[in-house]
Amino acid sequence: MSAIQNHLQNITNELPQGVTLVAVSKYHPASDILEAYHGGQRVFGENLAREMQNKHDILPKDIQWHFIGHLQKNKVKYIAPFVSMIQSVDSIQLLQEIDRQAAKHNRIIPCLLQIHVAQEQTKFGLTFQECLDLLEEGSWRQLTHIRIDGIMGIATHTEDTSLIRKEFQSLNNLFKQVKETYFLNDDNFSYKSWGMSDDYQLALQENSNTIRIGSAIFGNRPSKESLQ
Ligand SMILES: *Cc1c(COP(=O)(O)O)cnc(C)c1O
Repeated sequence: MSAIQNHLQNITNELPQGVTLVAVSKYHPASDILEAYHGGQRVFGENLAREMQNKHDILPKDIQWHFIGHLQKNKVKYIAPFVSMIQSVDSIQLLQEIDRQAAKHNRIIPCLLQIHVAQEQTKFGLTFQECLDLLEEGSWRQLTHIRIDGIMGIATHTEDTSLIRKEFQSLNNLFKQVKETYFLNDDNFSYKSWGMSDDYQLALQENSNTIRIGSAIFGNRPSKESLQ
């Protein structure tokens, strides 16, 4: 068993039932993905559209690709034919473009609303109020080729576990509020995507059901600049 398969198995073995593990393979070569694939992993996360497209072209077709990074509207077309989920929707304009591209391929693309919960200013995402405003405004209901399936967030990068826990709790509270207000009878609205390599145990204690793990599976990431 390879190191990647070993890490993967250690993580999967301790996951509670019903938790989706997204193996974050960004900047890692396709060969690393294939190792995880042969270890049983099928869901992978990428944050560059072209990189995801290139990998999709050469890797097994039963892989489910989750987009997890800031997505520019003009890049949606590269992933619309095959992407399983876009976890990082942060505007109505992006949602409209995903809908437009998905329609061309006769698909419905499941999306998560990315919430800016961390203290770092550099992170992307909707504030809690922007998220509620977007849903309240209501034009998303007309988009027939997207689905809003839940929310995603990235906690502050810190040693302060009580801050991380508070951020996860506020994501969970937002999820509950949004579910009750807009998606009460919609079973698809069920994704609570929080937790990465350093904080996923905490995330699971705070009701996450989708964790996105990169370095704990694949080791240190090559730099973005190492991509050709
Ligand atoms: C890179 C990334 C991850 C994985 O980070 P690790 O710390 O390597 O587990 C998870 N989520 C998002 C949105 C990312 O960009």
